[in-house]
Amino acid sequence: MTDATKSCPACLSTINAAATRCPSCTERQPDAPGLYRDVPERVFGGVCAAIARRFGVDVTLVRILAVASLAVTGPLVFWVYPAFWLMTPYALNGRAPMTRFFDALSRLFTPQSAPRLETPTRVE
Ligand SMILES: [Zn+2]
Repeated sequence: MTDATKSCPACLSTINAAATRCPSCTERQPDAPGLYRDVPERVFGGVCAAIARRFGVDVTLVRILAVASLAVTGPLVFWVYPAFWLMTPYALNGRAPMTRFFDALSRLFTPQSAPRLETPTRVE
């Protein structure tokens, strides 16, 4: 951990540079990483690691909560994991598997086979 600090844009208090959320006003920091799964902490699908990074909590805590909720709710969380995986992009600013699937599906049913590159020229 570094001693680097930054200023919270919402309340202007000095906070840790690595903080994703301001401890005093709980405002989410603009430079905080978004939700994506290609994180070094990933083990399986990267969902727990993505949630942990997004909310700035320990990945072990997220995994314990996931396993604990699996034990309590049973199959509900079991289906939440793949659903979350489908809705989370792999890379930062990337597209989620579900978005890619629906994009491919819509291209399949679009009448034009190739994208038109040139704009139609008007003849007077
Ligand atoms: Zn703040």
